[in-house]
Amino acid sequence: MSETLANLLQENRQFPPPEELARQANVTAEAYDEAAGDHLAFWAKQAERLEWTRKWDRVLDWSNPPFAKWFVGGQLNVAYNCLDRHVAAGNGDRVAIHWEGEPGDARTITYAELLKATSQAANTLTELGVVAGDRVAIYLPMIPEAAVAMLACARIGATHSVVFGGFSVDALSGRIQDATAKVVITADGGYRRGKPSALKPTVDEAVARCPSVEKVLVVRRTGQEVAWGEKDLWWHETVEKANPEHEARSFDAEHPLFILYTSGTTATPKGILHTTGGFLTQTSYTHDAVFDLKPESDVYWCTADIGWVTGHSYIVYGPLSNGATQVMYEGTPDTPHRGRLWEIVDRYRVSILYTAPTLIRTMMKWGEQIPAEHDLSSLRVLGSVGEPINPEAWIWYRENIGRGRCPVVDTWWQTETGAIMISPLPGVTAAKPGSAMRPLPGISADVVDDQGRSVPNGGGGYLVLREPWPSMLRTVWGNDQRFIETYWSRFEGMYFAGDGAKRDDDGDLWLLGRVDDVMLVSGHNISTTEVESALVSHPSVAEAAVVGATDPTTGQAIVAFAIPRGSVRTEGTAGEELIQELRNHVARTLGPIAKPRQIMLVPELPKTRSGKIMRRLLRDVAENRSLGDVTTLQDSTVMDLISSGMKAGKSDED
Ligand code: ATP
Ligand code: MG
Repeated sequence: MSETLANLLQENRQFPPPEELARQANVTAEAYDEAAGDHLAFWAKQAERLEWTRKWDRVLDWSNPPFAKWFVGGQLNVAYNCLDRHVAAGNGDRVAIHWEGEPGDARTITYAELLKATSQAANTLTELGVVAGDRVAIYLPMIPEAAVAMLACARIGATHSVVFGGFSVDALSGRIQDATAKVVITADGGYRRGKPSALKPTVDEAVARCPSVEKVLVVRRTGQEVAWGEKDLWWHETVEKANPEHEARSFDAEHPLFILYTSGTTATPKGILHTTGGFLTQTSYTHDAVFDLKPESDVYWCTADIGWVTGHSYIVYGPLSNGATQVMYEGTPDTPHRGRLWEIVDRYRVSILYTAPTLIRTMMKWGEQIPAEHDLSSLRVLGSVGEPINPEAWIWYRENIGRGRCPVVDTWWQTETGAIMISPLPGVTAAKPGSAMRPLPGISADVVDDQGRSVPNGGGGYLVLREPWPSMLRTVWGNDQRFIETYWSRFEGMYFAGDGAKRDDDGDLWLLGRVDDVMLVSGHNISTTEVESALVSHPSVAEAAVVGATDPTTGQAIVAFAIPRGSVRTEGTAGEELIQELRNHVARTLGPIAKPRQIMLVPELPKTRSGKIMRRLLRDVAENRSLGDVTTLQDSTVMDLISSGMKAGKSDED
């Protein structure tokens, strides 16, 4: 059998859970056996975490794959489960959100207050004519109203489509049109990098192209001047004056909850549709299990934006359904100084932190002296999501943020999966730096070769899911055919995630990046992630991206882009020497086959607005092509910086 994906990186470090955490863990090793015995019974038990007004008749209907129905016949209200039931249980005074604005203003919102605001917003939307099944677009900064708007939609059965507040007119209007949204909820602006950044003008332009939009509800956040049209209504003049009582009615378990577009790292974003009962069951369970949440004592903080799936599942629905107290922060991590996040951790005594490798690597670049100045002793569990986390970044996170005490959980999942699928359990798993370890209880992930056969331990291939799961996407909005073709056509009867993975000798899983990015060098399939991790393991490198560029002799050649750590000198010959040293370092770490043909030292990498590296643009640079679609790129000037640095850093030897 030919090799599907080479397995080059060896990593032998391993960290067992802290004893005290293991002793009191929410989930123990038995959960794996229990779920393996009868995974439908296992998920039915997890669904009991929620309050249903009508119990389901069947756990799963999979008679018409790939269209799944979970908890068939069951009924519930998502907002009721996230708010009312906590208040009814006597926890109305518990803080739901410690919100901090970028300028330093703060708000503390209890569950009772969040329920009141959500009820008022639900009443307002109803008055505006929004009924169950209608779509509402949400385009807001990271302010509590974003969560209120989502919960209000869920409460009345409207389907929300949150669009990241940094997106352009084209991206916003395209998404509004695709979903034919009736109402848009936005703000005058939000604060970013120390100044107000307007949102309303973008909405005005977008709405002018969208005949479906009847009303625009505007939160006043920055107080900046805004143009006012006949569809516009102020939030503070409507929602904040509305009746605070609203009785939640129940919806079918398969009622549409939201549409969310994927990040657009590899292709045109797809409108992923999620529904009610299964989504809430799995986000609630995984938030409890993976972060070991103790709602009475923990303070949880997920640094994602609400515009990404992580914000949906692990700021709004998972944590609130579990009655968590959380931190929400509006701004950027270096405003007004590079220690802002650590100041927030200390101020609110954050105990669980969930962030992304891009942020961790940025912190590595800035240097460990910055977190060292802050008291981070409240932390007890650290999480990562969004991209493969390189072993060195994982270790840096554990040492410099977790101070060697906190388990790190690397959580693999997608917009499409709705909830975490592969992850260590912090009280059970002896985690390996850079590995997402095992599928969670109730999840059947596998790594297969071209023919769809499981690869043995030590092998690499395609990551697939063999069984349906409760929070799975139900379709691509308005495009069942794209749903079938993208996810269910490559391997018969399996969901294909688009990611490569390997299974090590112990059977633990390592994510290897997108299969579209895999490089074919002299007949070997080499993953971008492994070469990037080898580069990041060098003490001078903070971040790296690797692509395969067409090469006359080897088929494809490895071209790397590396960001040096803050203190490293790269002028003149120092830069050339570093490049040679890095090429040799990769060859020593992974073998000569993986030695990059070329390494460029660059100040930044092209990233999506969610912080993921966009390798396809780097491939365009490496192959001297004009750039492809850059609409999801965070900062378009980055590409100019890289192209000009490219000539300077080119290495022509061997
Ligand atoms: P698009 O599908 O439009 O290209 P995207 O895949 O970046 O965008 P998301 O759904 O936000 O959109 O990201 C999911 C992807 O992120 C996964 O398929 C995987 O490639 C990557 N990912 C997420 N978490 C991890 C992780 N812990 N380890 C490795 N990769 C991860
Ligand atoms: Mg994707």
